[in-house]
Parts: sequence; C-alpha cells; structure tokens
Amino acid sequence: MQIENKVTFPRLGNYHIPISTFVEKTLNAKVCVSPAITKRTIELGTKHSPDFVCVPFKYNIGNYIEALENGANILIQAGGGCRFGYYGEVQEEILKSLGYEFKFFNINDRKFKPLRYYELLKKINSKLTFRKFMYYFYLIYKQIFAIDKIEDYIRKNIGFEINKGDFENVEKRFLVELKKTEKIRDVNNIFTKYITLLKKIPINKPKNCLKVGIVGELYVLIEPFSNYFIEKEMASYGIEVQRYINISYLFFSRKHKKSRTLKLAKPYLQYDIGADGVDSVAHSKELAKKGFDGIIHIKPFGCMPEINCMPILQRLSQDYKIPILYFSFDSQTSETGVKTRLEAFYDMLSMRKNLNSPLAPL
Ligand code: SF4
Repeated sequence: MQIENKVTFPRLGNYHIPISTFVEKTLNAKVCVSPAITKRTIELGTKHSPDFVCVPFKYNIGNYIEALENGANILIQAGGGCRFGYYGEVQEEILKSLGYEFKFFNINDRKFKPLRYYELLKKINSKLTFRKFMYYFYLIYKQIFAIDKIEDYIRKNIGFEINKGDFENVEKRFLVELKKTEKIRDVNNIFTKYITLLKKIPINKPKNCLKVGIVGELYVLIEPFSNYFIEKEMASYGIEVQRYINISYLFFSRKHKKSRTLKLAKPYLQYDIGADGVDSVAHSKELAKKGFDGIIHIKPFGCMPEINCMPILQRLSQDYKIPILYFSFDSQTSETGVKTRLEAFYDMLSMRKNLNSPLAPL
C-alpha cells in the first residue's frame, strides 16, 4: 500500500498560508501544517534541542514533532548564512533519534534561487512542469505581498482603533479568504477588498503619536509567539509600529538593496556581519533620521549577528539621541519581564515627547 505524502515545514507568522498553497499545488501532496504555536511547542522543542542553540531552532523542533504526531512524513527546512545553515542536518538527526520516520528535504541555500527550488520539488513530484511551478510561484509571491501589506497597515493603525477588535476581525476574514485563492486575479481582488475595509475602520490617531521601529533577527521579528506578541503590546499603548523585515523584503527585495543597505549602515558598519545584522543597523539609522521616537531591538538569546549589532546600536543611539530598548528571547524569558520593561520604555518615551526634554538616561 502506498503511503500518502504529508508535507510539513516550520511555522512562521501567517506565511504557512502561501507555503501550503505552493506545496499543495506543486507537489500534489497533502499539507500537514503544524498546529499554532503554544507553550507545548516550545517545551517539546526545548526538551529535544541542545541547550546552547538559538531559540528558532527549538520552535522548529517543536513544530516538527507536533506535525509528525499528526501524520506528517515529509519535512522541509531552509537554511541561511549563520547557524541557520546547520539547522536541517541537526534537526533531522534529532528527530530520527526520537524514532520518527520521515523524508527530510533541506533547502540550504544562502541565496534565493527559484530554479534550485524547482529541481528540489521535482525530486518529490516528478510530473511537476516548470510552467506550473512558475505560475504557483507567482501566485504565492502575490499572497505574501498581500499579507505583508495588510499586516503593515495594521501595525501602524491598530493602536488607535475606536472599537476594540475591528482590525483583528478584518484580518481573520482576510486570511480565511486568502487561504482559498487559487488564481492570481483572486489574490488581487481579495487584497483590494480587505485593504479598503481596513482603511474604513474608524481610528483616532493623533498627528504626533508615538512612533517606534522594531528591528532585529527575522524569526523573532516575524513569529509573534516567540516575541510574546510584542507588536500587539506596543500597539496597546497607542504606538505606531514600523517594521521593515518581512518575507517580501527578505526574498524579493533584500538582495537588490544589499549595497544600498550597507551604504546606509555606514559609518557604523563597513562589512556584512551575517544574517540580519546589517539590516538592523541600517534600519535603525533610517528610523532615527526619520524622527522616530524610539527603537526596539529584538533577538534570540545567543544570536551572534545581532549581538554584534548591539554596541553599534548603542553608539547610534547616542549620536542620534534616540532611545533603544533591547530584548533577548529564549524559552525561559519571562513574559512579565517583557511587559514591565516595555511599559517603562513607553513611559520614558511619552515623557520625553511631551516635555521635549533632552535624552532621558536609558
Ligand atoms: S540569525 Fe541568529 S537566531 Fe537566527 S538562526 Fe542565525 S544565529 Fe540563530
């Protein structure tokens, strides 16, 4: 009897929607999305990961185990220019040693190469044509773009909604409809429909509201569970939140902007420091120049590229007189600690803005 393929991959924000569409359509396989991240996910991940590894690894292990428990038998992992490059091999070993049976596909490329993905998918579905691959590639590009644009608008305005829950309700409906899209035209229509609906939501946004940018490592920036829903918490104080890093940026824009980003990071950085380090410095400088009231830098505990950024950001903070708050996340991070520090940061920013006082001690 032939066993049905059930594909899974680590969760990251709402991007399981485009990834699922792509896998289903190009591989003719069932997708077994790992359940939404909970405490159990990170407990499982922590139990079966090396202590010293960065926290996205632990979340990924937890995702895989929960998906394997639900019947997944094909696991996909990506890889990048830091410890992320080793995730695949190590995770495969750990899961096999736990007795799970599965095939593991590791797309370990530093650069984004669609052709390479096509070759890899052909190994799973030999009937996949290049034309079909490109069609669905473009479809999910559109889906990703729609998610990012919608989330960006929400991030900037949700803190000022008059009726609590309006933004979240529209976002939920948007995601449900997006999941069903099979044609590029449908994605465009849904995007137009929901961005219009969002813009109609009544808000009470003062012209001089507090504006805070959030920079740092991509996983903790994008997966809200891993950062204790920090953006939502910031918004609850009536803050407009700006974030540059999302999947559209990483896949479709970062490569072209690389030299511009490095130029922007000067004189603080001369060379690439790996992963999202240059982005953190360049975007912080951009936020400071744009007159933002503060910056929040977040990273997983032990993340070297972001640790390297921190002394640079401290200098930038002094040069531009912009307060920066640093958070490091691990499986043991205290949620109360995060909320308390965020509240104190908010108090300091609002006093600073209202009194127009010189930079308060950080
Ligand atoms: S960027 Fe940092 S946290 Fe993310 S995988 Fe690399 S080392 Fe780990």
